[in-house]
Amino acid sequence: MAEQNGRGPIRAPRGTELNTRGWQQEAALRMLMNNLDPEVAEHPDKLVVYGGTGKAARDWRSYDAITRTLATLKGDETLLVQSGRPVGVMTTHEWAPRVLIANSNLVGDWATWPEFRRLEQLGLTMYGQMTAGSWIYIGTQGILQGTYETFSAVAAKRFGGSLAGTITLTAGLGGMGGAQPLAVTMNGGVAICIDCDPRSIDRRIEHRYLDVKAADLDEALRLAYEARDARRPLSIGVEANAAQAVPDLLARGAEIDVVTDQTSAHDPLAYLPIGVAFEDMAAEAAKDPEGFTQRARESMARHVEAMVGFQDAGAEVFDYGNSIRGEAQLAGYTRAFDFPGFVPAYIRPLFCEGKGPFRWAALSGDPADIARTDRAILDLFPENESLARWIKLAGERVHFQGLPARICWLGYGERDRAGERFNDMVASGELSAPVAIGRDHLDCGSVASPYRETEAMLDGSDAIADWPLLNAMVNVASGASWVSIHHGGGVGIGRSIHAGQVTVADGTALAGEKIRRVLTNDPGMGVIRHVDAGYDRANEVAEEREVRVPMREG
Ligand code: NAD
Repeated sequence: MAEQNGRGPIRAPRGTELNTRGWQQEAALRMLMNNLDPEVAEHPDKLVVYGGTGKAARDWRSYDAITRTLATLKGDETLLVQSGRPVGVMTTHEWAPRVLIANSNLVGDWATWPEFRRLEQLGLTMYGQMTAGSWIYIGTQGILQGTYETFSAVAAKRFGGSLAGTITLTAGLGGMGGAQPLAVTMNGGVAICIDCDPRSIDRRIEHRYLDVKAADLDEALRLAYEARDARRPLSIGVEANAAQAVPDLLARGAEIDVVTDQTSAHDPLAYLPIGVAFEDMAAEAAKDPEGFTQRARESMARHVEAMVGFQDAGAEVFDYGNSIRGEAQLAGYTRAFDFPGFVPAYIRPLFCEGKGPFRWAALSGDPADIARTDRAILDLFPENESLARWIKLAGERVHFQGLPARICWLGYGERDRAGERFNDMVASGELSAPVAIGRDHLDCGSVASPYRETEAMLDGSDAIADWPLLNAMVNVASGASWVSIHHGGGVGIGRSIHAGQVTVADGTALAGEKIRRVLTNDPGMGVIRHVDAGYDRANEVAEEREVRVPMREG
C-alpha cells in the first residue's frame, strides 16, 4: 500500500458523523479525501489522482491546510484554492459556494508545457486535470458510461448496433483508458488493449474491467480471433509499447475493425517513447524533459501513422480525446488529423440536449444508498431504454472505488429532477446520508477544447473560451457547493479551459432550491452553447424545453 507522506492511506470518513460544521463543507472534505484514496487515485503517494499528473492538492502541506480549514469553515464562508493550495477564506453568504477553485490557469502566451513545468517546479501551480483538482473523481466508473456510449455509437454507425464479431484495438489502461475493455465487452465485442505498464493491466484485471492478459501480441491475436469467431465478448491486455505494437499489428495485416487510443498522450512526458524501457521512463523524463518530449512525439507520430493505416484498410478509427493527433502533427506527421475526434463523430448530438456525464457519490459510504438512487433513476426515466440498460449493467459489473458512486448521462430537464429526488430521499431518511452531485468537465457546455469537446463546431467557435467561464459564474450564482475553473485538462496545457461544479443534496429545503437552479442552469449552458453555434437539435431542445435564448426571441 502506497504510503501517503508518512500518514498511511487516506480514506474519506463514512457515516453521518460530521467532521466539519455542515454537510456542504463535509462533502468537500470527503470528496477531496476520496480522490486520494488508494482505491481511487492512480498515484496517491504523489497526490496524483488520474490522467498523467492530475493532482488533488499542490503538496502535502497544502493538503493538510485544506482539510484543516474545511474542518472549521463556517456556513457563510468560502475557501479559495489556487492550483491546489488554499490561499484565503472570505466571508460570503449561505447561497455562495463553500469552496472556489482555480487550477493550472496561465495567460495565453505563457500557456505551454515547458512554462507550466517551470512554474510547477517553483511550487507555484499544479496540474488539476478535470475532476482531480475539483474533487469529484470517482475512479474508472466515471468514464465507463461515456466510453460505453461511445462504443455503442460506433456499433450503431458501423456494425448494426452491436460490436459482436468485431475486434477493437486500443492502448492505455490507466484511470480513464481502463474503462475501454469493459465498455467494448458490454457492447458485445473483443478488445485488444496495449499498455507498457504491467501494473495498469493487473489493476484492470483485479477490478474486473479487463478479462485476461496475453503473454505477447501473437497470443493476443489468437485469443481475439477465437472470441470474435465465436461472437463472444472478451478483453485482452498485452504489455507492449503502443508506438511499436500498433505499427507491428498493421504490418502483419491484423484483422482489426475499430482503432482508438487512450495513452496519456496529452502530456508527452507521460507517453513512453520507443527505445526507453518502462522502468527508466520517469528518470529519463526528469533528466531531459525537452529531449524526452521530442522522442515521445516522434513515437506518437509512428503510432498515429499506423492508426491512419488501419483507417485506410477500412477500420473505424477515432481519437479518444488525448491529443495524440496534435502531438503527432507537432512531430511533423501530416496526416494526423485524417481521422476524427470522438466528440464530433459520436457525442455532439447528446451535447445539444445538454447531456453529459452526471454523477453522484454516497457520502455515507454505503453501497445500498447507490442501489436506492439507481432505482430512483429507473423510476424517474422509465422511457429511456439505454439508460435502463446502463444502470442494470453498472449495478452488476461496476466495482466501486472509494465512496460508492454512480454515473449516467442525463440532459437538460432531467438532472434537476434526479437531484431533487435525491434530496428528498435524504430528507426522508431513505438515503442514510447526503449525496454529492457533480459531473465530469468532459461536458456539453462547460468546456472549450478544440481537440476534443469543441472540435469542429458548426460555426468555427472551437477555441472560444467564454463559455466555460460563463458556466462557472452561473453555477456560483445558482448556489453550487463548490465550483472550479481549470486550464489544460484532458488534452494538455494550452489546449482547453473548462469548469466544474458539485452540489450537495443534504436533505434541506435550501439544498433543494440550490439543486433546482444549478442542475437546470448547468446543463442549460450546453443547450445555449450549441444553439449559439447553430445546431438544429439544440434549437429544437430549446424550443421544446423552454430554454430562453435572447437571440431566438423577438
Ligand atoms: P493515465 O495516466 O492514468 O494512464 C495512461 C496509460 O497509458 C498508463 O497506463 C501508461 O502506462 C500508458 N502508456 C503511456 N505511454 C504508452 C505507450 N507508449 N504504450 C502503451 N501504453 C502507454 O491516464 P488516463 O486517466 O487513463 O487518461 C488517458 C488519456 O485519455 C489522457 O490523455 C486523458 O486526458 C484522456 N482522457 C480522455 C477522456 C475521454 O473521454 N476520451 C476522458 C478523460 C481522459
